[in-house]
Amino acid sequence: MSHHRFAPNEILPVRHALLSWYDVNKRKLPWRDWFDADQNVAAYRVLVSELMLQQTTVTTVLRYYDNWMKLWPTIESLANAVEEIVNDMNGIFPADVNEMIKLLPPNPVLDGNVMRVLCRLRAVGGDLKKKSTTDLLWSLATDLVCTQRPGDLNQSLIELGATVCTPSNPKCDSCPVQNFCCAYKQDDSNDSRKDDCKDIEECDLCLKSSYYVVSRGVKNYPRKTSKPKQRNETSYMVILYTIKNDKLYYFMLKQKQTRLLSGLWTFLEIDGCDGANSKKSKIDVLEKTRIVLATTMDLNMNGTITDIKLAGQCRHLFSHIDKKYVVYHGRYDDNMNFIEQTTTANSRWFDEEQLRTEAISTAMKKVFNVAVNEMNLKTDKKNVSYIIIMEK
Ligand code: SF4
Ligand SMILES: [Zn+2]
Repeated sequence: MSHHRFAPNEILPVRHALLSWYDVNKRKLPWRDWFDADQNVAAYRVLVSELMLQQTTVTTVLRYYDNWMKLWPTIESLANAVEEIVNDMNGIFPADVNEMIKLLPPNPVLDGNVMRVLCRLRAVGGDLKKKSTTDLLWSLATDLVCTQRPGDLNQSLIELGATVCTPSNPKCDSCPVQNFCCAYKQDDSNDSRKDDCKDIEECDLCLKSSYYVVSRGVKNYPRKTSKPKQRNETSYMVILYTIKNDKLYYFMLKQKQTRLLSGLWTFLEIDGCDGANSKKSKIDVLEKTRIVLATTMDLNMNGTITDIKLAGQCRHLFSHIDKKYVVYHGRYDDNMNFIEQTTTANSRWFDEEQLRTEAISTAMKKVFNVAVNEMNLKTDKKNVSYIIIMEK
C-alpha cells in the first residue's frame, strides 16, 4: 500500500493543515452563516444548499440559492408551496441544530473535488471504476474525517478541490498540504521533486507509466478513464565525439529523474532545428549545443566543436510516445585533459567498450547507430574496427 495511505504520523498534520487553511480561506457562502440564525431556518438553509450542491457547482448554486431563499425562506413557506414535502417531513426540523448535525453523520464525503484531492495527495492512479480504488479513497477520507470537526474537515477538502486543487489549474504553490502531496513530489517541474512516492508498475493503485504524461504534472491524477493515445514527438540529438590517441569517445549526459530514460545516459538533446544540412542550420545546431552544455550541465567546455553534420533519423516507440530522433554529430576538441575535466557525476565521455556495457537505452543505441559509421570515418586507423554493433 505504501504511499497510498497516510502514515499514522501524517494524519494529524494533514488535518491540522486543512482545517487551519479552511478557517482562513473558506468562501463566504450564504448557507454558512447559519449559527447566528434561527436554528430551524438555518438547518433548512443548509439542507437546501446541500441538495443543490449534489447537483451542480457552488458557482451555479450561488446563482439560484438566493432566489430560492427569497421565494421560500423557511420550510413552512416551501411546504405551503409544495404540500407533499411537508407530508414527507412532517414539516418539522429537529429543534436543535446539534441534533440536526447528529442526523448528518460525521461520515466522510467523496464528491468529485474530494476524490481529486485525495488521488493527488496519495498518488492514487488506479481505475476509479474499480472497487479497490474507491475503497481506498473512502478509507483515506475516513482517516481524515475522524476529528472534532468532521463537517469542517469535509468542507475543507471540498473547498480545497474547488479553489486550489482544481482540475485544470491546480495552485500547488499555495496549497496547505503540498508537503504531504505525492503527486506534487512526483512532478518533474517542481524543484523539490522527491522520490518517496515512486510509482510501482505492478501496483493496481499506482498510475501506469503509459498513462503518465510528464507535461500534465499533478494533473495526471485522478487517472483519465481512457489510455492516452501514443503521441508523436521529435527530439534533436547531437552526438559529440572526440578522438584521442586514435580512439573515439562520445559525450553523454545522465538524465535527471524524469520518466523518460530516467537515470540513463543520453547524447545531448537540443531544441528543434530545421533538420537541413545547410551552413545556417549547422550554426544553429552548434549554438544550441553550446547552450545545452552551458545551461544544463554548467560545464566549462570551452573547446571547439567542428564538423557538425546531420547524420539521419531513427524512430523509437515508447509505451506512450512515438519518438522521432533527428541525429547530428559534431567533433569536439580541447586541451590535453578535457576528458577528465568534463567528467562529472552527470557527464562523461564513453569509449566503445563503455558504450556497450553502461546503462544506455535502446533508443540511444538506435540514435548512435544512425551516426556511427560516419564518425568512424574520422579516424584513419584502417586496421582498427570502431564499428559498434548495437542492438536495433
Ligand atoms: S500540492 Fe497541488 S496537487 Fe497536491 S493537493 Fe495541493 S494543489 Fe493538489
Ligand atoms: Zn501503488
